[in-house]
Amino acid sequence: MKSQTLGFSASVCPTVGVGGHFSGGGYGMMSRSFGIAADNIIDARLIDVNGRIVDRKSMGEDLFWTIRGGGGASFGVIIAWNIKLLQVPETVIVFTINKTLEQNAMKIVHWWQYVSGKVDEKLLLRINFGRANCSQAGSGRETVQASFTTLYLGRVETLLP
Ligand SMILES: Cc1cc2nc3c(=O)[nH]c(=O)nc-3n(C[C@H](O)[C@H](O)[C@H](O)COP(=O)(O)OP(=O)(O)OC[C@H]3O[C@@H](n4cnc5c(N)ncnc54)[C@H](O)[C@@H]3O)c2cc1C
Repeated sequence: MKSQTLGFSASVCPTVGVGGHFSGGGYGMMSRSFGIAADNIIDARLIDVNGRIVDRKSMGEDLFWTIRGGGGASFGVIIAWNIKLLQVPETVIVFTINKTLEQNAMKIVHWWQYVSGKVDEKLLLRINFGRANCSQAGSGRETVQASFTTLYLGRVETLLP
């Protein structure tokens, strides 16, 4: 990575391939601010069914629109994407908060549904559900845990209010 302040809005997970990810849309932790990966594609090179290599201009706007969300494989083989890099702040905030059922996870998830789409667009709050050991001493039980994974494109002074 040559720049600390140029990013791209794509997957939460670093292992996905761009062929399927970009052509399927591609949401990530910066999508509330910058849109999905497909929104930030400037051009593409595709081998069509006749073996021709086409770019945005020669494939036409309809096909170019389709391969940015409709899945690439139905339309050809994409051999290159030309993407727009995005300016991100030098300092960002990342944190995860875990809450089990016993720690009121369901109540917080309920609130999350009302809040997560309304907060500042620089803040993305997502939830993963998983299994965890129950914190009640000696119970030996498993419970459901909600993990709130967060990225804020800015500094703590503007996040806290
Ligand atoms: C662990 C994991 C985490 C994920 N996280 C996210 C996430 O955070 N956000 C999100 O939006 N999605 C996520 N996904 C879904 C991911 O975007 C899709 O699985 C995507 O299809 C992965 O692309 P790929 O090229 O690796 O997949 P592949 O399985 O190789 O391809 C998927 C489809 O795209 C076609 N394809 C691949 N490359 C090309 C190409 N060059 N030209 C034409 N067609 C092509 C394939 O033929 C196939 O039909 C995740 C998936 C996994 C497994």
